[in-house]
Amino acid sequence: MKKPVVALALVSVAALTLAGCSTPATGEGDDGTVQVVASTNVYGSIAAQIGGDRVEVTSIIESATQDPHSYEVTARDRLSVQEAGLVIENGGGYDPFVEELLDGSDAAVLTAAEISPDFPGSEGQEDAEQGAEFNEHVWFDPRTMIDVVGEIAAQLTELDPEGKADFTAAADEIIADLEGFETDLDAIKTDAGGASVFITEPLPGYLAAAAGLTDVTPEGFAESVEEGTDVAPAVLLDALNVIGSGEVTALLTNAQTGGAETDRVEAAAKDAGIPVVAFTELLEDGSSYSEWMSDAITSLAAAVQS
Ligand SMILES: [Zn+2]
Repeated sequence: MKKPVVALALVSVAALTLAGCSTPATGEGDDGTVQVVASTNVYGSIAAQIGGDRVEVTSIIESATQDPHSYEVTARDRLSVQEAGLVIENGGGYDPFVEELLDGSDAAVLTAAEISPDFPGSEGQEDAEQGAEFNEHVWFDPRTMIDVVGEIAAQLTELDPEGKADFTAAADEIIADLEGFETDLDAIKTDAGGASVFITEPLPGYLAAAAGLTDVTPEGFAESVEEGTDVAPAVLLDALNVIGSGEVTALLTNAQTGGAETDRVEAAAKDAGIPVVAFTELLEDGSSYSEWMSDAITSLAAAVQS
């Protein structure tokens, strides 16, 4: 669709006013930095770490109090994306608002979910469980993120070839961290592989799978919580029975989504002495992606190895 002429004119005037003299090329800041927009601060933080002072990063969702699954865009988001040289989205239905913002933009777009080997239609997908629903929370999958990090460095190099050595070096540091996480998850698998976990929302699914944990969540529970719909009474009853059965080693929750049903399951777990590990969709407290991942894996290990 064509961009409305009026909006275009307004943007140019604003850019001229801000720049003072000349309008920078699209995708470039006044000082020649690459403008990057990420849908959440998970990708924004990684891009900032890789790009250093050669990039200027805007994360559309930055606060763990906002639920990316139901975010509504602002005029400011629209302007950021129109000025971006690179837009990083999660994809897989997680942040559909980005598509809307991209209308009329000529930014390069990186879609993390499509890099996942589990993404429907991708190579190697025949290994995936038949009919299993794609889990879009791919930033918790170190395997996929190694490729995503490499691709962010490649895209930045495309936009700013002189930064190649810096981008590659910074990306390699994060990749080394991710390889360490794969080792940590393998260690959990060796120690506690097969332990049963109840997962209230798909968010930590990749971590649980990589740690070799068995998901005993009743069918439909996690999906209802994620979609913000009520968990059917029969499913809730099943869930409480599973928690009460004594077979659950840990309860994994999403601190950013929840409701009456997850509260009941969480209360039942606490009553039964089952450790509860809460995960978030966004980075918190100014921690880097690697620090945040490390914390998540350490908490998971502590809960299932206890
Ligand atoms: Zn989610």
